[in-house]
Amino acid sequence: MPEECLFCSIIEGSVPAKKVAETGLTMAFLDINPRNPGHTLLLPKKHYTHLLEMPDKELTGFFSDLKKVSTAVQAATKADGLSISHSIGQAAGQMVGHMHFHIIPRFATEAPPGLESVLSVKKMGEDALDKVAALISAEMSGERKMDFSPKPKDEEEEDDAFNF
Ligand code: 5GP
Ligand code: ZN
Repeated sequence: MPEECLFCSIIEGSVPAKKVAETGLTMAFLDINPRNPGHTLLLPKKHYTHLLEMPDKELTGFFSDLKKVSTAVQAATKADGLSISHSIGQAAGQMVGHMHFHIIPRFATEAPPGLESVLSVKKMGEDALDKVAALISAEMSGERKMDFSPKPKDEEEEDDAFNF
């Protein structure tokens, strides 16, 4: 365990949390700042900073537990839906550097319901869409390493809204 990892301390039991489930691989407990009642965090007991660090052989067990806990959260809260999210890195809003998935009950009465409550839609034309699709496809096939970071410019601009 890295020094001063809050979630490792919760797993060890030295920091209290409202635990709702535990398997050999994972633990789930309520978020201390619930965005809705029943907001639950699921994390691997082994310390990984985020999903991209988790070995492939541990993914199946983790996502199986994610499905089980999500089913229980929805049933217990009678939620109309769930938002399941995972942030990778501070730029994405990750505050705690121990991999965790948020399972957040959602209700039809809430608005806005989707990702637009987190990020505004960026206007992109066909050329820009084709370009980023080609870059990701190339990365998947191992042809090249990604060397861009999207930089939104003027929200009103189309096509050139990102620098690659
Ligand atoms: P992140 O922004 O890293 O995806 O989310 C971290 C989450 O951990 C936040 O929603 C925050 O409320 C929650 N959190 C932070 N400290 C504690 C804690 O001590 N106990 C519990 N149960 N949740 C915490
Ligand atoms: Zn940790």
